[in-house]
Amino acid sequence: MPGRVHSRLLPGAPRWLLGLVALVALPTALLATATRLAPGTTAPDPRLFLPLLLVLHVLLLALLWWRVRSVATELPVWNRFALGAAVFLLCVAASAVLQFVPVPRAVALAPLYWSGALVFPLWYGALVRWNRHSTSTADPNDALNGISAILAIVAILDVALNRPGTRLGELPWWELQAVFAQLAVGAVVLGTALTLPSLSGMGRDPRTWLMVAAQALWVVSAIGTLVAGGQADGWGPVAHPLVILCLAVAATCRSRRSAPRPADAGAATIGAFVVILAATGTLAVGALVDATPLGIWCAGAAAVGAGLRMAVNVRDLAQLTATRREALTDELTGLANRRALLRHVEELTAEGTPVALALLDVDKFKEVNDALGHAAGDELLGLVARRLEPALRAGDLLCRLGGDEFAVVAALEPQDPQTEAALALGTRLHGCMTAPFPVEGMVVHVSASIGVTTTGSDAAGSAQLLRRADVAMYDAKRTGIGVVRYDGDRHADSSGHLALVEELRRALPAGQLVLHHQPQVDVRTGRVHGVEALVRWAHPERGLLGPADFLPLAEVHGLMGPLTEAVLARAVEQLADWRSRGLELRMSVNLSASNLLDAGLPARIGALLDEHGVPAAALVLEVTETVLLTDPDRSLAVIGALAELGTPVSIDDFGTGYSSLAYLRDMPVAELKLDRTFTADLLTDPRTEAIVASTIALAHRLGLHVVAEGVEQEATLDHLERLGCDTSQGYLHSRPVPAEALEAWLAGLGAPAR
Ligand code: C2E
Ligand code: MG
Ligand code: MG
Repeated sequence: MPGRVHSRLLPGAPRWLLGLVALVALPTALLATATRLAPGTTAPDPRLFLPLLLVLHVLLLALLWWRVRSVATELPVWNRFALGAAVFLLCVAASAVLQFVPVPRAVALAPLYWSGALVFPLWYGALVRWNRHSTSTADPNDALNGISAILAIVAILDVALNRPGTRLGELPWWELQAVFAQLAVGAVVLGTALTLPSLSGMGRDPRTWLMVAAQALWVVSAIGTLVAGGQADGWGPVAHPLVILCLAVAATCRSRRSAPRPADAGAATIGAFVVILAATGTLAVGALVDATPLGIWCAGAAAVGAGLRMAVNVRDLAQLTATRREALTDELTGLANRRALLRHVEELTAEGTPVALALLDVDKFKEVNDALGHAAGDELLGLVARRLEPALRAGDLLCRLGGDEFAVVAALEPQDPQTEAALALGTRLHGCMTAPFPVEGMVVHVSASIGVTTTGSDAAGSAQLLRRADVAMYDAKRTGIGVVRYDGDRHADSSGHLALVEELRRALPAGQLVLHHQPQVDVRTGRVHGVEALVRWAHPERGLLGPADFLPLAEVHGLMGPLTEAVLARAVEQLADWRSRGLELRMSVNLSASNLLDAGLPARIGALLDEHGVPAAALVLEVTETVLLTDPDRSLAVIGALAELGTPVSIDDFGTGYSSLAYLRDMPVAELKLDRTFTADLLTDPRTEAIVASTIALAHRLGLHVVAEGVEQEATLDHLERLGCDTSQGYLHSRPVPAEALEAWLAGLGAPAR
């Protein structure tokens, strides 16, 4: 048994202090009981009793002081108990001193009588934090509820018991109210203490029962005092030492694990409501029975306090609702967010409603964001959100999942053909994106890649549905098809695109990226004067992957920078190698949007060229016009630096992007590559021919070199020659091939790879 007691005490607890408390408290309580029960006397002599109580309070304070200083746990609880004990000590000391001053006995004891009410906020706060000490959601407003409840009880007691002609009615108001206050405080604190045992699983923490016992003693003694007819005959002297003993033991015991609960707005509201009812009821009864003004004031104050508490609760609840709403809303667009989407899908699937989900990713959003800045990016996203709304049907939910991803959840009728409905949704959304967007005074064309899927027969969960739509969306992006429906057979495997990104990350340093070269032929002489380097990924398992298979991934996942560096390094090495063997070719390398925003790129290219002794003019850098127009200012700076370096800049896929001629004037570009679509239609469409002819003429007037891409037929080449085109590139001459194959072709040793 001593072992068990020992194990329950805190390590280093001053047991001698605890022993002293017990040694003084128990005899004091016994003495008070004996005096109370002895015929002729009702209360111990304060001159003897108060010094004993003073000693007890000093000992208790010392113990609590030790607890606060040496034990880190539950600090907010025990420093309040300690502070309360200090207030108690001062009150007892005041009463003890007043015994030796010639004042009426009742006045001398007043500090002692009122000490319980004074200490209330501290001990009540301590008990409240006992529950919450590890949740950090302590609700200081609870004190308002507690005080209102005390006032309500005081009012009820006053209206019920403070009747003229009774023994209690004859007592001075400050003495009677002190008993009422003591009972009310005791009742409220007892109510709070009673919630403690449940926190530690009903009784696993004996300290909680000690708290209950202490408060119960307090209440019982106050009731006893009222029954006996006043403090002079009360039970306070019996209870007081025992309360101190309970507290002292609790302060030295180990804490047990408890399960703190957050503030319960519901309970607080009900509590406030009960207090309002009790207070207003007391007011009504008080008016009927002609109660004392004090009782009326207390009831009124209780009603006001509880009313305030209720108002605070209502405000808290309103805030909670707002927080919930915010948690389900995307801040930027005001649309529902991912959480709301998942929840909505789950609700629909739970009730067995078939669901279609469309996931939309804005193409080239990153370019706009990088080039025009985040404010423009945000503006564009807001415009996209508004643009998509008309595509919705009643009940559809449009969400922004984050970044440039949007999604629509549509509840389908069970009889609807699901696949068609999902595709129709995707097509409607895609249609909304065709017109250009006015962003920061510019006209920006962005399209979208959309993946659609349905819950289907296997009742897919929300996360699975989202993943499928994502896979389909990625397929749409990769292939350039606007809307793709998830197809289990085809896509089950492609969900590994994230794995592919990781592989690509590792492929870069592992040298798995290789260059194929497509010759560029002088239209007049037929001589090959350059090549375009086109990247391929020699994937160890999947074989040779084309740019479309991994470049979008690289762009989306921020790998374009390192990828371009790797391509440039290989290209310049190859150029140096050829030049060392007398093969004087120039090489074109493609740059992406993000490359043109990298102000350090020109310097790095310069260093690379220097390192390999390759003249800058041998390296041509291709940029698409889309990129140029999204951020003319920043691109201009990089292009200017490249031109200064001596590397010619070429505009790739000319004619497919924004048809603005301004940048031809403003940017120091040296070459223009007519897009394949023009070359293909050159012979069949007179309007295309007119465009090509005037573009070549314009380019020449501006001093630009013109390359026609995608030349597949001899007749096209002849026509291009007539129009004055400088260079031809296309399958007619050769497909892109590895360096050795190109060398062999050039040497006339191998057949051109057609
Ligand atoms: P691009 O720069 O316009 O390259 C020309 C593309 O057209 C190449 O496709 C080429 O194989 C193809 N092509 C050439 N002649 C013909 C023809 O006669 N008929 C047809 N139908 N196609 C022809 P590829 O190699 O698949 O490259 C596609 C795109 O990927 C390139 O378009 C370029 O934008 C991008 N790309 C390739 N390599 C790189 C790179 O290293 N970095 C960057 N940023 N982009 C690259
Ligand atoms: Mg190119
Ligand atoms: Mg091109």
